[in-house]
Amino acid sequence: MFSVSPFIPNGSIEIVDASNPADVRLRMRVDEGDNPFIYYCHFRAAGVRGVDCRYSLLNGGDVLKFRLASHANLEGRWVNTGVMASYDRRDWFRIPLSEKDGIVTWQHCPDYDQIYYAMWPPYSSEKLLDLMGELQLSPRVRLEVLGRTVGGRDLDLITVGVPGPRKHVCWVIARQHPSETMGGYFIEGFLRRLTAPHDPVANELLDRAVFHVVPNMNPDGTDMALSRANAAGVNLNREWIAPSMEKSPEVKLVRDRMEATGVDFCIDCHGDAQLRCNFLGGPLEIPSRNERLSGLFYGFERAWAAASPDYELGHPYPGGSPDKADLSMAWNWIAERFNCLSVLLEQPFKDTSWRQDLVRGWSPQRSIRFGASLPAAILGVVARLR
Ligand SMILES: [Zn+2]
Repeated sequence: MFSVSPFIPNGSIEIVDASNPADVRLRMRVDEGDNPFIYYCHFRAAGVRGVDCRYSLLNGGDVLKFRLASHANLEGRWVNTGVMASYDRRDWFRIPLSEKDGIVTWQHCPDYDQIYYAMWPPYSSEKLLDLMGELQLSPRVRLEVLGRTVGGRDLDLITVGVPGPRKHVCWVIARQHPSETMGGYFIEGFLRRLTAPHDPVANELLDRAVFHVVPNMNPDGTDMALSRANAAGVNLNREWIAPSMEKSPEVKLVRDRMEATGVDFCIDCHGDAQLRCNFLGGPLEIPSRNERLSGLFYGFERAWAAASPDYELGHPYPGGSPDKADLSMAWNWIAERFNCLSVLLEQPFKDTSWRQDLVRGWSPQRSIRFGASLPAAILGVVARLR
């Protein structure tokens, strides 16, 4: 029988009418709370082998209402991209989509019985637990629970390397926004390289630094397949000035630990559905900005571009850089508080504009390898971090 279902791990879609495969009408779910965002969908269609199917996201146009003001003139999120599809939940390819009058549609005649569609491939909590279980067998790795999320889930911290008086303290955090699932793949690539026993870059880096990694800042949002909020309906990346245990314990717990360890370097990993590049924001607009920090940032950019052609120099702040940093955002707050190199990473949902994969676009495979290039980029500046 033909079936469309959100009842899969990390599934999310509202079914308006799925009685006719040639006209499947769907709506993307809206996050509840103060931040009613919509970005994400992930569902399975069954009974589709050789069937001409047509899917419509009736509220696809509503996504455009949630653009940052500075992004208003950027290419829309539905342009130059496609929905991602997979038969085996490992290899994801793109089906072209189009947007007209606020409705996003795609057509597809699958080769097999069942298929999964997603805005971007999910990175589930189970996948992360598998990774952490594997990592903790390394003598370099310690696992800790920092505390509990709004929904009562564990907030995990992974420490790689041994703290010491002469070690720089580096933080890597990801997935404050649960729909930006590329952060999960990026972290996996990063951690696998950093824990590889025979990797000279990892070994050199761990002689000089210790890494505290929060692989998933928003486990509730991940398990609930939300777009940008946590279980209390809060956008965690606007909570960094005054987080609370009631509404944003995820930020409060990480911030408290940062106060205890200090921070010499931090990267906060996100995804942006409009960009066609890997974008870095630096500590360039914070109140205490200075030449040391801007020099470090440009050095870090050059080191990353040398380490991976998937980072390309010369992509300015989308829509122009703000005059004043928003200190409620993690990367700015951390840079200001610790006077350190703290950066924002936005991976694309679409693809990079200069090295395109016409079948997959920006994919988990590329995100993993991009994450694996981060240690070399940090090594390029580690001697100057403090
Ligand atoms: Zn984000």
